[in-house]
Amino acid sequence: MLNFLQEHFYTIVYIWIGIAVIVFPFALMITAPYGRHSKKISLMLPAKWGWVLMELPSPLIFSYFVLSGENSVFSVVGVFFILFNLHYFHRTLIWPFMMRSKGKEMPLLIAFSALGFNIMNGSINGYLLGFLANYEMSWLSDSRFLIGLGLFIVGSAINVWHDYHLISLRKDGSTGYKIPNGGLFKFVSSPNLFGEIIEWTGWALMTWSIPTLSFAIWTWANLLPRALDHHRWYRNYFDEYPKDRKAVIPFVL
Ligand code: NDP
Repeated sequence: MLNFLQEHFYTIVYIWIGIAVIVFPFALMITAPYGRHSKKISLMLPAKWGWVLMELPSPLIFSYFVLSGENSVFSVVGVFFILFNLHYFHRTLIWPFMMRSKGKEMPLLIAFSALGFNIMNGSINGYLLGFLANYEMSWLSDSRFLIGLGLFIVGSAINVWHDYHLISLRKDGSTGYKIPNGGLFKFVSSPNLFGEIIEWTGWALMTWSIPTLSFAIWTWANLLPRALDHHRWYRNYFDEYPKDRKAVIPFVL
Protein backbone atom coordinates (compact mmCIF):
# COMPACT_ATOMS: atom_id res chain seq x y z
CA MET A 1 0.00 0.00 0.00
CA LEU A 2 2.72 2.47 1.04
CA ASN A 3 4.85 1.50 -1.97
CA PHE A 4 1.88 1.99 -4.27
CA LEU A 5 1.19 5.43 -2.79
CA GLN A 6 4.86 6.37 -3.01
CA GLU A 7 4.94 5.58 -6.73
CA HIS A 8 1.55 6.89 -7.79
CA PHE A 9 0.59 9.52 -5.19
CA TYR A 10 0.41 12.58 -7.44
CA THR A 11 -1.30 10.62 -10.27
CA ILE A 12 -3.98 9.57 -7.75
CA VAL A 13 -4.36 13.16 -6.55
CA TYR A 14 -4.80 14.55 -10.08
CA ILE A 15 -7.32 11.82 -10.95
CA TRP A 16 -9.14 12.59 -7.68
CA ILE A 17 -9.34 16.28 -8.56
CA GLY A 18 -10.48 15.35 -12.10
CA ILE A 19 -13.30 13.24 -10.62
CA ALA A 20 -14.46 16.21 -8.50
CA VAL A 21 -14.59 18.39 -11.63
CA ILE A 22 -16.61 15.72 -13.50
CA VAL A 23 -18.94 15.05 -10.54
CA PHE A 24 -19.72 18.75 -9.97
CA PRO A 25 -22.16 19.32 -12.90
CA PHE A 26 -23.95 16.05 -12.08
CA ALA A 27 -24.22 17.07 -8.43
CA LEU A 28 -25.88 20.28 -9.64
CA MET A 29 -28.53 18.19 -11.43
CA ILE A 30 -29.07 15.39 -8.87
CA THR A 31 -30.18 16.00 -5.30
CA ALA A 32 -28.23 13.86 -2.82
CA PRO A 33 -30.97 11.98 -0.92
CA TYR A 34 -30.06 12.51 2.73
CA GLY A 35 -31.16 14.91 5.46
CA ARG A 36 -34.27 16.83 4.33
CA HIS A 37 -33.95 15.26 0.84
CA SER A 38 -33.76 11.68 2.19
CA LYS A 39 -35.32 8.95 0.01
CA LYS A 40 -35.45 5.20 0.44
CA ILE A 41 -33.05 4.30 -2.38
CA SER A 42 -31.44 1.40 -0.48
CA LEU A 43 -31.40 -0.11 2.98
CA MET A 44 -31.71 2.70 5.52
CA LEU A 45 -29.84 3.32 8.76
CA PRO A 46 -30.41 5.81 11.60
CA ALA A 47 -29.13 9.20 10.41
CA LYS A 48 -26.81 9.77 13.37
CA TRP A 49 -25.07 6.40 12.91
CA GLY A 50 -24.83 7.12 9.19
CA TRP A 51 -22.84 10.27 10.00
CA VAL A 52 -20.52 8.35 12.36
CA LEU A 53 -20.00 5.55 9.83
CA MET A 54 -19.23 7.84 6.91
CA GLU A 55 -17.04 10.41 8.70
CA LEU A 56 -15.03 8.35 11.23
CA PRO A 57 -12.67 6.68 8.69
CA SER A 58 -11.33 10.07 7.64
CA PRO A 59 -9.61 11.02 10.95
CA LEU A 60 -8.60 7.40 11.59
CA ILE A 61 -6.87 6.97 8.24
CA PHE A 62 -5.46 10.51 8.32
CA SER A 63 -4.01 9.88 11.80
CA TYR A 64 -2.63 6.48 10.78
CA PHE A 65 -0.68 8.01 7.90
CA VAL A 66 0.55 11.03 9.85
CA LEU A 67 1.60 9.01 12.91
CA SER A 68 3.27 6.24 10.90
CA GLY A 69 4.97 8.72 8.55
CA GLU A 70 8.51 9.98 8.52
CA ASN A 71 7.57 13.51 9.62
CA SER A 72 7.50 14.24 13.35
CA VAL A 73 4.23 15.56 14.78
CA PHE A 74 6.36 17.82 16.97
CA SER A 75 6.68 20.16 14.02
CA VAL A 76 4.45 22.22 11.72
CA VAL A 77 2.74 18.96 10.73
CA GLY A 78 1.52 18.66 14.34
CA VAL A 79 -0.46 21.89 13.95
CA PHE A 80 -2.27 20.46 10.91
CA PHE A 81 -2.73 17.13 12.69
CA ILE A 82 -4.50 18.82 15.60
CA LEU A 83 -6.71 21.08 13.44
CA PHE A 84 -7.87 18.27 11.12
CA ASN A 85 -8.64 15.98 14.06
CA LEU A 86 -10.40 18.69 16.06
CA HIS A 87 -12.79 19.18 13.13
CA TYR A 88 -13.41 15.45 12.78
CA PHE A 89 -13.63 14.78 16.52
CA HIS A 90 -16.53 17.20 16.59
CA ARG A 91 -18.08 16.01 13.29
CA THR A 92 -17.96 12.28 14.13
CA LEU A 93 -18.29 11.99 17.88
CA ILE A 94 -20.13 15.10 19.09
CA TRP A 95 -22.35 16.65 16.42
CA PRO A 96 -24.19 13.43 15.36
CA PHE A 97 -25.25 12.93 18.98
CA MET A 98 -26.37 16.54 19.38
CA MET A 99 -28.53 16.49 16.20
CA ARG A 100 -32.23 16.12 16.91
CA SER A 101 -32.68 13.28 14.46
CA LYS A 102 -35.06 10.90 16.23
CA GLY A 103 -36.70 8.68 13.60
CA LYS A 104 -34.59 10.16 10.76
CA GLU A 105 -32.86 7.75 8.42
CA MET A 106 -30.15 7.86 5.77
CA PRO A 107 -29.71 5.48 2.80
CA LEU A 108 -26.84 3.05 3.37
CA LEU A 109 -25.79 3.78 -0.22
CA ILE A 110 -25.17 7.44 0.64
CA ALA A 111 -23.24 6.49 3.78
CA PHE A 112 -21.05 4.15 1.71
CA SER A 113 -20.38 6.66 -1.05
CA ALA A 114 -19.44 9.30 1.55
CA LEU A 115 -17.31 6.66 3.26
CA GLY A 116 -15.38 6.21 -0.01
CA PHE A 117 -14.90 9.98 -0.24
CA ASN A 118 -13.63 10.15 3.34
CA ILE A 119 -11.22 7.23 2.91
CA MET A 120 -9.68 8.96 -0.12
CA ASN A 121 -9.58 12.32 1.57
CA GLY A 122 -8.10 11.03 4.84
CA SER A 123 -5.47 9.05 2.90
CA ILE A 124 -4.42 11.90 0.61
CA ASN A 125 -4.15 14.50 3.37
CA GLY A 126 -2.54 12.06 5.83
CA TYR A 127 0.03 10.64 3.39
CA LEU A 128 1.03 14.10 2.23
CA LEU A 129 1.55 15.38 5.77
CA GLY A 130 3.08 12.19 7.18
CA PHE A 131 5.46 11.34 4.35
CA LEU A 132 5.94 14.10 1.80
CA ALA A 133 5.47 17.48 3.42
CA ASN A 134 8.54 19.46 4.30
CA TYR A 135 7.63 22.57 6.27
CA GLU A 136 10.29 24.67 8.03
CA MET A 137 9.27 26.19 11.40
CA SER A 138 9.35 29.58 9.63
CA TRP A 139 6.21 28.44 7.72
CA LEU A 140 4.26 29.31 10.89
CA SER A 141 4.88 33.01 10.26
CA ASP A 142 4.32 32.86 6.48
CA SER A 143 1.36 34.96 5.33
CA ARG A 144 -0.19 31.96 3.48
CA PHE A 145 -0.17 29.97 6.71
CA LEU A 146 -1.54 32.84 8.79
CA ILE A 147 -4.33 33.83 6.37
CA GLY A 148 -5.22 30.15 5.84
CA LEU A 149 -5.32 29.54 9.60
CA GLY A 150 -7.52 32.61 10.03
CA LEU A 151 -9.93 31.34 7.36
CA PHE A 152 -9.91 27.86 8.90
CA ILE A 153 -10.80 29.21 12.36
CA VAL A 154 -13.42 31.67 11.11
CA GLY A 155 -14.92 29.03 8.77
CA SER A 156 -15.10 26.45 11.60
CA ALA A 157 -16.76 28.97 13.90
CA ILE A 158 -19.35 29.88 11.23
CA ASN A 159 -19.98 26.19 10.48
CA VAL A 160 -20.37 25.08 14.09
CA TRP A 161 -22.36 28.11 15.29
CA HIS A 162 -24.96 27.71 12.51
CA ASP A 163 -25.09 23.91 12.85
CA TYR A 164 -25.99 24.39 16.54
CA HIS A 165 -28.43 27.15 15.70
CA LEU A 166 -30.28 24.65 13.48
CA ILE A 167 -30.22 22.10 16.28
CA SER A 168 -31.72 24.70 18.64
CA LEU A 169 -34.73 25.12 16.30
CA ARG A 170 -35.90 21.71 17.52
CA LYS A 171 -35.49 22.32 21.24
CA ASP A 172 -39.28 21.93 21.59
CA GLY A 173 -38.79 18.24 20.73
CA SER A 174 -40.12 18.56 17.16
CA THR A 175 -38.34 16.96 14.20
CA GLY A 176 -39.79 19.21 11.49
CA TYR A 177 -38.37 22.32 9.84
CA LYS A 178 -38.58 26.02 10.71
CA ILE A 179 -37.28 29.09 8.92
CA PRO A 180 -33.91 29.78 10.55
CA ASN A 181 -33.08 33.38 11.46
CA GLY A 182 -30.14 35.00 13.19
CA GLY A 183 -26.45 35.08 12.38
CA LEU A 184 -25.68 34.65 8.69
CA PHE A 185 -29.12 33.11 8.07
CA LYS A 186 -30.10 36.72 7.46
CA PHE A 187 -28.10 36.50 4.21
CA VAL A 188 -28.01 32.84 3.16
CA SER A 189 -29.98 29.60 3.59
CA SER A 190 -26.93 27.46 4.45
CA PRO A 191 -24.36 29.44 6.42
CA ASN A 192 -23.19 26.18 7.99
CA LEU A 193 -22.14 24.94 4.53
CA PHE A 194 -20.64 28.37 3.74
CA GLY A 195 -18.51 28.04 6.91
CA GLU A 196 -17.34 24.57 5.91
CA ILE A 197 -16.33 25.86 2.46
CA ILE A 198 -14.29 28.69 4.03
CA GLU A 199 -12.75 26.27 6.51
CA TRP A 200 -11.32 23.86 3.92
CA THR A 201 -10.32 26.69 1.60
CA GLY A 202 -8.28 27.96 4.56
CA TRP A 203 -6.87 24.46 5.00
CA ALA A 204 -5.66 24.44 1.39
CA LEU A 205 -4.06 27.85 1.86
CA MET A 206 -2.27 27.10 5.11
CA THR A 207 -0.99 23.71 3.95
CA TRP A 208 -0.17 25.06 0.46
CA SER A 209 -0.14 21.86 -1.58
CA ILE A 210 -2.08 20.30 -4.46
CA PRO A 211 -3.12 17.21 -2.42
CA THR A 212 -4.65 19.32 0.36
CA LEU A 213 -6.20 21.62 -2.27
CA SER A 214 -8.08 18.54 -3.51
CA PHE A 215 -10.06 18.54 -0.24
CA ALA A 216 -11.09 22.16 -0.77
CA ILE A 217 -12.09 21.43 -4.39
CA TRP A 218 -14.21 18.45 -3.27
CA THR A 219 -15.81 20.54 -0.52
CA TRP A 220 -16.85 23.20 -3.07
CA ALA A 221 -18.07 20.46 -5.46
CA ASN A 222 -20.11 18.76 -2.70
CA LEU A 223 -21.47 21.74 -0.84
CA LEU A 224 -22.40 24.28 -3.52
CA PRO A 225 -24.93 21.87 -5.11
CA ARG A 226 -26.19 20.79 -1.68
CA ALA A 227 -26.69 24.38 -0.58
CA LEU A 228 -28.56 25.17 -3.83
CA ASP A 229 -30.80 22.14 -3.20
CA HIS A 230 -31.47 23.32 0.39
CA HIS A 231 -32.29 26.81 -0.90
CA ARG A 232 -34.77 25.54 -3.51
CA TRP A 233 -36.30 23.27 -0.87
CA TYR A 234 -36.79 26.18 1.58
CA ARG A 235 -38.44 28.30 -1.12
CA ASN A 236 -40.87 25.51 -2.02
CA TYR A 237 -41.59 24.50 1.56
CA PHE A 238 -42.22 27.93 3.10
CA ASP A 239 -44.40 30.44 1.21
CA GLU A 240 -43.13 33.20 3.48
CA TYR A 241 -39.43 32.36 2.96
CA PRO A 242 -37.37 35.60 2.75
CA LYS A 243 -37.06 36.48 -0.95
CA ASP A 244 -33.73 38.31 -0.70
CA ARG A 245 -31.89 35.45 1.04
CA LYS A 246 -29.17 33.85 -1.12
CA ALA A 247 -28.28 30.14 -1.05
CA VAL A 248 -24.77 29.98 0.34
CA ILE A 249 -22.45 32.90 -0.44
CA PRO A 250 -23.74 36.18 1.02
CA PHE A 251 -24.84 38.66 -1.72
CA VAL A 252 -23.46 36.41 -4.48
CA LEU A 253 -25.09 32.96 -4.80
P1 NDP B 1 -28.34 20.68 7.04
O1 NDP B 1 -28.23 22.13 7.29
O2 NDP B 1 -29.27 20.20 5.99
O3 NDP B 1 -28.79 19.92 8.40
C1 NDP B 1 -28.06 19.98 9.59
C2 NDP B 1 -28.96 19.54 10.76
O4 NDP B 1 -29.92 20.57 11.04
C3 NDP B 1 -29.78 18.28 10.49
O5 NDP B 1 -29.99 17.61 11.72
C4 NDP B 1 -31.11 18.84 9.98
O6 NDP B 1 -32.21 17.96 10.19
C5 NDP B 1 -31.24 20.08 10.83
N1 NDP B 1 -31.96 21.16 10.12
C6 NDP B 1 -31.60 21.68 8.91
N2 NDP B 1 -32.44 22.68 8.57
C7 NDP B 1 -33.34 22.77 9.56
C8 NDP B 1 -34.48 23.63 9.77
N3 NDP B 1 -34.80 24.57 8.89
N4 NDP B 1 -35.22 23.46 10.88
C9 NDP B 1 -34.87 22.52 11.79
N5 NDP B 1 -33.80 21.68 11.67
C10 NDP B 1 -33.05 21.81 10.56
O7 NDP B 1 -26.86 20.16 6.82
P2 NDP B 1 -26.23 19.04 5.86
O8 NDP B 1 -26.85 17.71 6.14
O9 NDP B 1 -26.23 19.54 4.48
O10 NDP B 1 -24.72 19.05 6.42
C11 NDP B 1 -24.47 18.79 7.80
C12 NDP B 1 -23.04 19.19 8.16
O11 NDP B 1 -22.10 18.38 7.46
C13 NDP B 1 -22.72 20.64 7.81
O12 NDP B 1 -21.92 21.20 8.82
C14 NDP B 1 -21.92 20.51 6.51
O13 NDP B 1 -21.02 21.58 6.37
C15 NDP B 1 -21.20 19.17 6.72
N6 NDP B 1 -20.92 18.52 5.41
C16 NDP B 1 -19.66 18.59 4.88
C17 NDP B 1 -19.36 18.03 3.64
C18 NDP B 1 -17.99 18.18 3.01
O14 NDP B 1 -17.82 17.79 1.85
N7 NDP B 1 -16.98 18.72 3.69
C19 NDP B 1 -20.42 17.29 2.89
C20 NDP B 1 -21.72 17.31 3.52
C21 NDP B 1 -21.94 17.91 4.72
P3 NDP B 1 -32.62 16.80 9.12
O15 NDP B 1 -31.43 15.86 9.07
O16 NDP B 1 -33.83 16.22 9.73
O17 NDP B 1 -32.83 17.47 7.80
